[in-house]
Amino acid sequence: MSSAILEEKSKFPIPTGVFSETVTSVHHYTDRLFKFRITRPTSLRFRSGEFIMIGLPNAEKPVFRAYSVASPSWDEELEFYSIKVPDGPLTEHLQKIKEGDTVLLRKKPTGTLVNDALLPGERLWMFSTGTGIAPFASLIRDPETYEKFDEVILTHTCREVAELTYGQKLVSAVRDDPLVGEVAQGLKLYCTTTREDYPFRGRITDLISSGKVFDDLGVPRISPKTDRGMICGSMEMLRDTKALLEGFGLVEGSNSCPNTFVVERAFVD
Ligand SMILES: Cc1cc2nc3c(=O)[nH]c(=O)nc-3n(C[C@H](O)[C@H](O)[C@H](O)COP(=O)(O)OP(=O)(O)OC[C@H]3O[C@@H](n4cnc5c(N)ncnc54)[C@H](O)[C@@H]3O)c2cc1C
Repeated sequence: MSSAILEEKSKFPIPTGVFSETVTSVHHYTDRLFKFRITRPTSLRFRSGEFIMIGLPNAEKPVFRAYSVASPSWDEELEFYSIKVPDGPLTEHLQKIKEGDTVLLRKKPTGTLVNDALLPGERLWMFSTGTGIAPFASLIRDPETYEKFDEVILTHTCREVAELTYGQKLVSAVRDDPLVGEVAQGLKLYCTTTREDYPFRGRITDLISSGKVFDDLGVPRISPKTDRGMICGSMEMLRDTKALLEGFGLVEGSNSCPNTFVVERAFVD
């Protein structure tokens, strides 16, 4: 669909300097979570794990919010995994989008949860809570991640069992994917819940502190010689997980100064 037709559909003109893209699919998981896919601007380049600002053409000055791109950098479309915040300035509208609707994208992707910000290692840990799994949904579908690490462990902690579905379906799809399936044999998913019964229960920070996560997965304790970390969750989860990784001797890195772990907020509290 041309951008002229998209503009006709919206009461408001598309702001200058943003991409105007079309929703290709929407899937609701729970009353708090959904994923959607949109067309990808041909000129948009990003690294797997980065985030971008998205908005809707529903106001003269639309609200834009940061979103991790959940699809890998090679994908022809863009995927996002979203919360639905009651009365949230963006998501109270975003949760109603349907195939054919328009989503706006600012042009500059950025972020620290990228392979480039980590020194090479053997085992990559991706620690996530809630929608913090989104950047990892991108990275576990990128063959580069498996070129850099022999083993990739994605941990995902949510309150309820149904909130784990997105990650579980994704990991099974990755294992069957013709592009990454073969190299992704070293991918492990470790899901835990905090409010409902599930085989693995509790906060990831408690499971790291007690050593249970290592015993459950049959891997050694984290070591700066072999292990690298990426963290994405609430401010509290970032702070506590970061302190634990530092306790194992890992050091926070960045794009300009790669090191043994990196962090990014999943949202602003
Ligand atoms: C770097 C970065 C990447 C992000 N990536 C994503 C993403 O991939 N998917 C996504 O859904 N959101 C993501 N967010 C959050 C997103 O920017 C918005 O906050 C969210 O879409 C809600 O927007 P809103 O305008 O409806 O409400 P806001 O006014 O933005 O938020 C209202 C309140 O809702 C809560 N909240 C907001 N986002 C979340 C969330 N994701 N999980 C739990 N509680 C939340 C917070 O308490 C916040 O104060 C990201 C934020 C940052 C900083």
